[in-house]
Amino acid sequence: MKRLFILIILLSTSTMFAQERCGTTQYLQMLENSKPEIATKRAKLEKDIQKWIKENPDYQQKTIITIPVVVHIVYASPQQNITDAQVQSQIDVLNKDYRRTNIDVIMTPSVWQSIAADCEIEFCLTSTDPNGNNTNGITRTQTSQSSFSMQGDPVKDASSGGKDAWPNDDYLNIWVCNLGSSLLGYATPPFGNIGSDDGVVIGYNYFGTQGTVQSPYNKGRTTTHEVGHWLNLEHLWGSGWGSCGNDNVNDTPTQEEENYGCQAFPHNANSCNTTNSNGDMFMNYMDYSNDGCMNMFTQGQKTRMIAAINQSRQNLLNHNLCGSGTTFIDEVNTTERTLIKIVDILGKEVTNSLQFNKALFYIFDDGSVEKKIRIP
Ligand SMILES: [Zn+2]
Repeated sequence: MKRLFILIILLSTSTMFAQERCGTTQYLQMLENSKPEIATKRAKLEKDIQKWIKENPDYQQKTIITIPVVVHIVYASPQQNITDAQVQSQIDVLNKDYRRTNIDVIMTPSVWQSIAADCEIEFCLTSTDPNGNNTNGITRTQTSQSSFSMQGDPVKDASSGGKDAWPNDDYLNIWVCNLGSSLLGYATPPFGNIGSDDGVVIGYNYFGTQGTVQSPYNKGRTTTHEVGHWLNLEHLWGSGWGSCGNDNVNDTPTQEEENYGCQAFPHNANSCNTTNSNGDMFMNYMDYSNDGCMNMFTQGQKTRMIAAINQSRQNLLNHNLCGSGTTFIDEVNTTERTLIKIVDILGKEVTNSLQFNKALFYIFDDGSVEKKIRIP
């Protein structure tokens, strides 16, 4: 009898785990257990975010924010060493989902079309590595680890068979590896001194739209969801399950818990003792629906992400880490242009340009940029 009881517990645990589309909530719980100060930092950032949103009520994005991405492929088998094309297919999904140019936006229920957002955030595979050298934005690391757990973040550390992060203030680090069978991905939200552990981890069979991807998580939405967490979005049901919690976004309906598969609209009308006849926003990227049944962020979620970038990830606002690497002079305008300033790869102004072996960017008043490296 006792053995049967243990077996039932094991089965129910594994069932629960098999459904773990996203590990971010559990990851944060582990983080808060080991670093109690994280909860305080989280509360402080929430206060700052709400203050920023209040102070920018009519905030209209003037320019698109482009986030430089480095994808670290950590592989134990040739199959896990996914192709450049598969990586690019994921970047394409991020760009479509965050700009609302994906074809399945027509599936958004009409009641929510008006609040569905073009987040005006784009992503590039970075063209410049931390040393100022040209790169395709992809690193490849062979490992003897057959799979990586979330506990302790071994994939983010070369000493445990993973790959060290690039500076997290400047890049979105995405690690792609074998996470085993139970977990699709997890992310670090922008609070606390997460530093070298900052970024997103995705299972190699849920990354992009081709190659090794597995249905029903084969349209790149695991990464769209996890990058949402990295930019401070929460699950629609808040931090607990079945608790009708709060995601701190005004235009998403209160939701009792996560949805799997593909629901039909409306689903769970009037749940959580509300008069919301539209029910759950199960097609939101921050739910757990199948990839093919997700198609929107809201305006409120967009504002929350932009606020998080302004509060916690400011280097993403101004940098030279996307583009074609070395930018050549526009010869037509060379005689008439005036130098405005010189910046380093992080976008910080440089007053002493006589530095050796360092990529510096000369910005001119005609909009042209020239990359120079002084060789001794
Ligand atoms: Zn999640």
